[in-house]
Amino acid sequence: MAARGGGAFASLGPEMHDLVRELYPVCRSITGDGVRQTLARLGREIPLSIHEVPSGTQVFDWIVPPEWNIRDAWVKNSRGERVIDFRRHSLHVVSYSVPVRTRIPLAQLRPHLHSLPDQPDLIPYRTSYYQPAWGFCLPHRQLEQLPDDEYEVCIDASLAPGHLTYGECLLEGSSGQEVLVSCHVCHPSLCDDNLSGVVVATFLARHLQQAPHRHAYRFLFVPGTIGAITWLSRNEERARATAHGLVLTCIGDRAGFTYKASRRGDAPIDVAVRHVLRHTQREHTLLPFTPYGYDERQYGSPGFDLPVGCLMRSHYGQFPQYHTSADDPDFVEAGQLADALATVASVFDVLENDGRYRNLNPNCEPQLGRRGLYGAIGGSRIEQLELAMLWVLNLSDGRWSLLDIAERASLPFQTVQAAAQLLLRHDLLAPCDAAPGASGPQH
Ligand code: ZN
Repeated sequence: MAARGGGAFASLGPEMHDLVRELYPVCRSITGDGVRQTLARLGREIPLSIHEVPSGTQVFDWIVPPEWNIRDAWVKNSRGERVIDFRRHSLHVVSYSVPVRTRIPLAQLRPHLHSLPDQPDLIPYRTSYYQPAWGFCLPHRQLEQLPDDEYEVCIDASLAPGHLTYGECLLEGSSGQEVLVSCHVCHPSLCDDNLSGVVVATFLARHLQQAPHRHAYRFLFVPGTIGAITWLSRNEERARATAHGLVLTCIGDRAGFTYKASRRGDAPIDVAVRHVLRHTQREHTLLPFTPYGYDERQYGSPGFDLPVGCLMRSHYGQFPQYHTSADDPDFVEAGQLADALATVASVFDVLENDGRYRNLNPNCEPQLGRRGLYGAIGGSRIEQLELAMLWVLNLSDGRWSLLDIAERASLPFQTVQAAAQLLLRHDLLAPCDAAPGASGPQH
């Protein structure tokens, strides 16, 4: 497994962080040119198909909304000075604001202004996707100092029939199993919450393009909720074939990892993530599935029940920078992005090499010493690899995968895998025919 701190991926950290920085100013939302611009940039790193779904399209119980685009927005005082300026920060405008152009006194403007009294220097992130409204966000300190005045308000935006845009990158495999990696691309200038997941997913796809892999990998860059629902609705059958999946978000900050399990709770992806976090001694918190959060709740809706967990560092909604202007490029770190990439790559490495085998000599232990597989000096402490061979031989009755065995034996997956390779070479083990991993342990 890759060493802590990013290992072989550590050198990619600065490049990953540069991409976060580059995408930071783009005003993304659940539809519109900000998403297109973001996906166009990612398309320079990985083979990305861009899908456009017309507004008004029914997707299960939802309807693809009108497309929102914004050119400029401001609040000017009576001297004509921009006191709130969208050009300075995309968070200043409530996402999906309807267009407005008016002159109003402070008292009438006030209900349209959003701030955080407890974090008076930060701009909050607000949206109004499904109810027509307009508004501005600003630091509470600034709001309190706005003098009574007549203000000119302009939101030069359009909300009209158009499209919902999402990106999809498929890397074909040969095992018949497909791995889904999903991240949201709908937040404007926020880094940990959306860009960290976007960048880790992009570099993961770039890595897997070069690395040999048996499984197919499907990367989705979708607007949160509506995008995942749209993809699921257009790919119902394909989605159901997902063998393993991860939602990546909030994964570049300084905290240890947080893993929220899939709805199933004990799918191979859940076991593999927990295994890697524990055996690489990474600080981590494990959480059960909840029907709230990011798109794991769509993939884990009862009609799909896909084995898709959510890997984060800080837990969404529970850190002070969440959904504020403090979630900026300095809040995520190059080393943490690279370490997240290394961690997910290790998880996929486990899933790639997992499998079920059959012991070809099941009646009592085979004599390993005769084959040079067992310590020559009797009585000395058993080596990990030898112990792993005994476990693999004992549990390889076709029901236990190598990952199940590693977990039960409390041994690193790599050791168990190496033991299986040795036993295979000595004709003591044979692979089972069924594709491994997809159905989980049968015990
Ligand atoms: Zn968010």
